[in-house]
Amino acid sequence: MVKAERVCKSYGSVEVLKGIDLEVNSGEVFCIVGPSGSGKSTFLRCINHLEKINAGRLYVDGTLVGYREKGGKLYELRDREVAAQRRDIGMVFQRFNLFPHMTAVENVMEAPVQVKRVPKAEARKRAGELLDRVGLADKRDNYPAQLSGGQQQRVAIARALAMDPKLMLFDEPTSALDPELVGEVLDVMKALAQDGMTMIVVTHEMGFAREVGDSLVFMDGGVVVESGNPRDVLTDPQHERTKLFLSKVL
Ligand code: ATP
Ligand code: MG
Repeated sequence: MVKAERVCKSYGSVEVLKGIDLEVNSGEVFCIVGPSGSGKSTFLRCINHLEKINAGRLYVDGTLVGYREKGGKLYELRDREVAAQRRDIGMVFQRFNLFPHMTAVENVMEAPVQVKRVPKAEARKRAGELLDRVGLADKRDNYPAQLSGGQQQRVAIARALAMDPKLMLFDEPTSALDPELVGEVLDVMKALAQDGMTMIVVTHEMGFAREVGDSLVFMDGGVVVESGNPRDVLTDPQHERTKLFLSKVL
């Protein structure tokens, strides 16, 4: 579903990603862990072309992200084509960026109505079903300010799902939450994984990675240091850097 080949990204002279190679299979929960500044968010942002990569190749569902290849050369896609690629990828951030002036149900139906031109009544019905799926059927008419952080984050997940993505990206979705609200968001993610969604999850929740993850990579300094089955990597890390990191977070 996602394939990265020697993906590099720099900001000016600062090399943030130094050749990332990885492959995410369809239906897999792929966890990315690593210290602050290691390039995890940057990599996620490259996957939906919020950032342009400087070298390497990135594919989603067999299609090159952000570029077209012709005669061995790469040509940038137009904005409209990039938007079309992005439509299939849901993203959930650390901070729940819901529209504050819209209710939960309005937040969820916004993109289908505006982007996909789904009729309002149909979009509203579907939004209600998605809110039900994340356990918020009774909060559909609440504004974000009237919801807890965990509830807001679940609305954000429902909102991403409303576009029927084939891939979901999560960037530390629980790290801004009070500890007692983390579980409800992880439970929704777990249910999503069980439904077969392909998910890339940047997280410090090692329990989630161990229990729900199919693969895990440890990133440091813009490279993948170690990868494998989450249970194996977390229980028996092979590299000193991984050991050091895990000793701090576990
Ligand atoms: P964290 O765990 O703190 O979220 P991260 O692994 O997600 O860290 P990134 O946000 O990807 O790390 O940042 C990696 C490096 O890239 C950092 O050193 C950061 O300062 C740098 N960086 C990120 N975005 C930009 C930008 N727009 N311009 C310049 N440097 C940037
Ligand atoms: Mg980050």
